[in-house]
Amino acid sequence: MSAIETLKSTLAGIRIEDNPAIVKQKSRDFYWYSPILKRQLDHVSADLFVSPKSEDEVVRVVKAAFEANVPITPRGTGTGNYGQAMPLAGGIVLSLADMNAVKSIRKGVVVAEAGAIIHDICEATRAHSGQELRLWPSTAKTATIGGFIAGGSGGVGSIAWGGLRDAGNILRCRAVTMEAEPRILDLTGDDLTKVNHAYGTTGIITEVEMPLTVAADWVDVFAAFDDVMTAVRCADRVARMDGLEKKQLAVIGGPAPHQYFLRHRKYVAETDSVIAAMIAPEAVSDFARVVERMGGRLAFRSDSASEEEAKGLPPSYELCWNHTTLRALRVDPSVTYLQILFPAPNHVSLVQKMAQIFGDEVPVHLEFVRFDGEVLCFGLHLVRYTTDARLEEIVRIFEENGCPIFNPHRYTLEEGGMKQTDQVQLAFKREADPKGLLNPGKMVAWEDPNYDFASGKVFLFRGIEEGVGA
Ligand code: FAD
Repeated sequence: MSAIETLKSTLAGIRIEDNPAIVKQKSRDFYWYSPILKRQLDHVSADLFVSPKSEDEVVRVVKAAFEANVPITPRGTGTGNYGQAMPLAGGIVLSLADMNAVKSIRKGVVVAEAGAIIHDICEATRAHSGQELRLWPSTAKTATIGGFIAGGSGGVGSIAWGGLRDAGNILRCRAVTMEAEPRILDLTGDDLTKVNHAYGTTGIITEVEMPLTVAADWVDVFAAFDDVMTAVRCADRVARMDGLEKKQLAVIGGPAPHQYFLRHRKYVAETDSVIAAMIAPEAVSDFARVVERMGGRLAFRSDSASEEEAKGLPPSYELCWNHTTLRALRVDPSVTYLQILFPAPNHVSLVQKMAQIFGDEVPVHLEFVRFDGEVLCFGLHLVRYTTDARLEEIVRIFEENGCPIFNPHRYTLEEGGMKQTDQVQLAFKREADPKGLLNPGKMVAWEDPNYDFASGKVFLFRGIEEGVGA
């Protein structure tokens, strides 16, 4: 009997799917955003899709898979856009989506199972005590909190609270290790690094404790400008106005808002560049004054839209972060994107310099954030893709100009990040996953300890072709 057949009988009583078409569908994430990852990963599929309903069931699956040497790739709802949840070596995709209870809410803190949908957590905390999560990804309505911690980094709220890596933005993660006798660890403080943004390569998160803040009735606003750099300078000004309460602050250069934000199209002229923001109701008039003083106009505010009008509109955060790319892709499937850091304090002049170099080949899309007390911005610029070679060249030119790229055309932790291994995660993986069965192929230092990131080569995981699962 094959390892997979043995596993199926060992796991009797736990929800398992082995229909190859369904398993393949459940083995996908948003890797296809990248033309390069699409080519590399299109064929990837697990052998089994397993959906435990409790931590005890997770432990049973881990024990059995460890014994059978079958890899496990944890999964929330598969909205990652770096191919994080793609099971490169086959085996089991372990869905946490059925472990979705919001377990307790108190002042400033929510405890939830890892598979809880982020938007559902916020609904529960709002109804309970007028609180909401500090941070959520623009995929909050579909993504899980465990997947956000393991595969994401920040998003809505980062203009006020920084990112998930910042101390205080995650309070506790409970994780199951991949050992003969799996351990259940409650990680706090510095130990959170072991599983935070580790793509599930070091442990399976089953429960999280997250900080809450007071919920506001956020108003979605669009400010329109004739040119993108005026919009950027205005957003930078708004970002620094500490008394102006905001949850989200993005700039999308024209003509993208009119071309791609189809349901908001009537609010923006063809060439408008737009600030898309979430502002506290009592701060909207201050926001409008700054916008007007800097030569823009308030083009849309959700609290003035009629009920009928509002019904058809997505929240503005679903136009921001990677949703901008998604909306562009729906209109023009040939575009792709990059994730760029414009470091403080020269982020505005760097944005301008790079916009002058690339023009319409790389349209500007910025997300303003406050990291370590400083305002800066991430670029999630669209790229009018022509060839892989040109895409690599664009990456190189950004980096040569002092703008690090978090390359979304790479599926490994290191290459999609700062081109270096997180030593804490590597050391923890050695003890928590000694056989290297958790999400194989995603941590270069584990697969090839001598790999030279300065070589300029792309890391290729051998297991993609070999498929060690079955
Ligand atoms: P998945 O995609 O299922 O998994 C992500 C990674 O975490 C995988 O490596 C998986 O193996 C691992 N994982 C999942 N669950 C667990 C677990 N319980 N234990 C251990 N490992 C686990 N990201 C942001 O940070 N901010 C954004 O604003 C944002 N916007 C996005 C917009 C769009 C349109 C898209 C397509 C993606 C966006 N993302 C963003 C990426 C992604 O949606 C988020 O990070 C999301 O929170 C991932 O959650 P998920 O449940 O879909 O995780």
